[in-house]
Amino acid sequence: MKRIKIFDTTLRDGEQSPGVNLITEEKLAIAKQLARLKVDVIEAGFPIASPGDFAAVKAIAEVVRDVEIAGLARSNQKDIDRAWEALKGAENPRLHVFIATSPIHMKYKLKMTEDEVLERAVFAVKHARQYTPNIEFSPEDGSRSKPEFLYRLFKEVIKAGATVLNIPDTVGYATPGEFGNLIKGIKENVSNINQAEISVHCHNDLGLAVANSLAALENGAEQVEVAVNGIGERAGNTALEEIIMALATRKDYYNLAVNQDTTQIMRLSRMVANLTGMDIQANKAIVGKNAFAHEAGIHQDGVIKERTTYEIMDAKSIGLNENSLVLGKHSGRHALRDFVEKSGYELSEEKFEDLFREFKKLADKKKKLKPMDIEALINNEIHAIDTIYELDYVSVSTGNTVLPTATIRIKKEDDILEKAACSGDGPIDAIFQAINEVLDFDNIKLISYKIDAITEGTDALGEVVVKLEIDDKTYIGHSAQTDITYASTLSYLEAINRYMSTNRK
Ligand SMILES: [Zn+2]
Repeated sequence: MKRIKIFDTTLRDGEQSPGVNLITEEKLAIAKQLARLKVDVIEAGFPIASPGDFAAVKAIAEVVRDVEIAGLARSNQKDIDRAWEALKGAENPRLHVFIATSPIHMKYKLKMTEDEVLERAVFAVKHARQYTPNIEFSPEDGSRSKPEFLYRLFKEVIKAGATVLNIPDTVGYATPGEFGNLIKGIKENVSNINQAEISVHCHNDLGLAVANSLAALENGAEQVEVAVNGIGERAGNTALEEIIMALATRKDYYNLAVNQDTTQIMRLSRMVANLTGMDIQANKAIVGKNAFAHEAGIHQDGVIKERTTYEIMDAKSIGLNENSLVLGKHSGRHALRDFVEKSGYELSEEKFEDLFREFKKLADKKKKLKPMDIEALINNEIHAIDTIYELDYVSVSTGNTVLPTATIRIKKEDDILEKAACSGDGPIDAIFQAINEVLDFDNIKLISYKIDAITEGTDALGEVVVKLEIDDKTYIGHSAQTDITYASTLSYLEAINRYMSTNRK
């Protein structure tokens, strides 16, 4: 069976989702989880875009093993040199260069003719080739480009040394039949196509990203570019979990092999949702809350008698409903460490000790801890960034007959900053107002505030995600605690700390 390669761009295209802003540590955590799921290629970022992007690509290239690491570059020397600088520590680096090829992009954006674009593309591939033989080339807006121009261009970039040709439906305009035909045409009309792999990169503006990608695979594409939970520019990219599960579940039809460890899907999906602050809709295929829930009595009855009556996939195959061990208040360091390692997380000694303390506190409050509870605590640790402002004390009083009031004390190194009694429309508003006053911030805009229970039950952990806009940029804060006022305080402070640490460097 022919094997399909999965190229993940969660950290590049996915990170370009509006309002998403990941720090290096978070990107590393996601990259490691992608490697555990065994994707073939991780596109770690666009190194020239910012110093932060560069640092993240470099860190991932140096640390994450057993997977190819790609970096994106426009077709010019400076971009490619910078990308290589970030990538060179990788076990198996891939330079990904692109240039727009559609009439509309060439005319208005590049102001270049077809011949000039072709010349530039060949130059870029040759330049990249000096660094590595592993070169991916993308004609941006490929689906709206003239096929004849693509055939001519591909022949030349393959000659120049490109080993993967990635055809993007950059604006999500293609339909499955049309996109499949485009791939077929490339196979038939580019004489040296056997020397390169065909890849596709689809966007979901019309909800067709997965369908278009599958149509391309049916017509000979060998690699598909995806993002976890389908995040990305605008309506997002082809969803990793949907492509992998479609190929795995319908192996009988596609006759294509995927090599990924599907049991890592749920964990990866939750991690990405959590770190990016991008929610997953309940009815989202594969990873939505309802994806394996049966409501109708007839369905429930059927599933109890024989699961396959109404279920085409086993929830366990994506890592859901694992009957994994439940940790409780009597579990020690050893059991927790075992859980962390088996789940594939890596924490420093210091963070592990923090986690253990938080775990004990939670186990005292809540009888049975589920894997999701502990993962939420681990995510608290992964999130934790340089703490410039640290919460020392928060107290809030509220009720239907009293004015909600918060008192707060924050530590900054040896200084204690205090605010007694700040009132607001509600307890959360009072806390946020108090923090703004203590820290003397008047430029914070709360973009969104979300709270969700991690598991069922009134003793569940409440997970709060806040998005703040400070100086025109978005900062996310997150915390999972059994007390939602405490979680709200910590997540708000975390977003501020994130702003402080990004702007101090
Ligand atoms: Zn894209």
